[in-house]
Amino acid sequence: MLIDSHAHIQGSEFSADVDQVIRRASEAGVEKIIIVGGAGDLSSNEAGLRLARSFPGLFATVGMHPHDAKDVGEEEWDKLRALVREPGVVAVGETGLDFYYEHAPRQTQVELFSRFIGIARETGLPLVVHSRRSDREVAELLCGEAKGSVGGVIHCFTGDYDAAREFLDLGFFLSFSGIVTFKNAEYLRDVVRKVPLDRILVETDAPYLAPVPHRGKRNEPAFLRLVADVVAGVKGISLEEVARSTSCNAQTLFGI
Ligand SMILES: [Zn+2]
Ligand SMILES: [Zn+2]
Repeated sequence: MLIDSHAHIQGSEFSADVDQVIRRASEAGVEKIIIVGGAGDLSSNEAGLRLARSFPGLFATVGMHPHDAKDVGEEEWDKLRALVREPGVVAVGETGLDFYYEHAPRQTQVELFSRFIGIARETGLPLVVHSRRSDREVAELLCGEAKGSVGGVIHCFTGDYDAAREFLDLGFFLSFSGIVTFKNAEYLRDVVRKVPLDRILVETDAPYLAPVPHRGKRNEPAFLRLVADVVAGVKGISLEEVARSTSCNAQTLFGI
């Protein structure tokens, strides 16, 4: 069994065939999927929750992507605070910082991320963290604001081993996506080699980041095995062992 720890299959890319996408995932051994909210707009959280309640093995998170941090006013924030407490929500996110695209001003991103860390502390839920070109700042915020009392996952980890080490020391899991299958990602496979198996999750981030040989096409949870295969190859262990460990890690983290 595999668990896709991060997918956005509640979006319009899947509105025509989400039933088949979920069926194909289950046929491919992906028995649980974490539907991550907050990419695009507030409604992606509600859509994720609705979807998670409609199928067994699906779970939802509530957050707001750093790209859209500037769209969160007080009214939106009140709504998010309420939604996080809905039954069936297993994590706070996605949230974090993205200093690569910088769609929202850095300070706005930092403020919203800090507020989400506060909600994670209040609720005891783990964080689903997005970090791009901001590992240093994310680690500092987690260290300062989370005060060691909040856990979570750095999703789609693409940093170097020093950053990985820092997040591991903070008690976080690292999740690897289809990027590990890309030809030019040797540096990332080196990181995977060094990170202990009991701290690794796998994800698709569907519809984005489809693994080789589907690169550039719409991604879906059924492709998760291609990511797990690379993790197994890099670590010199069986796919079954990767599946067992990463699923156990995801179940522990999300309480599912
Ligand atoms: Zn992300
Ligand atoms: Zn995402």
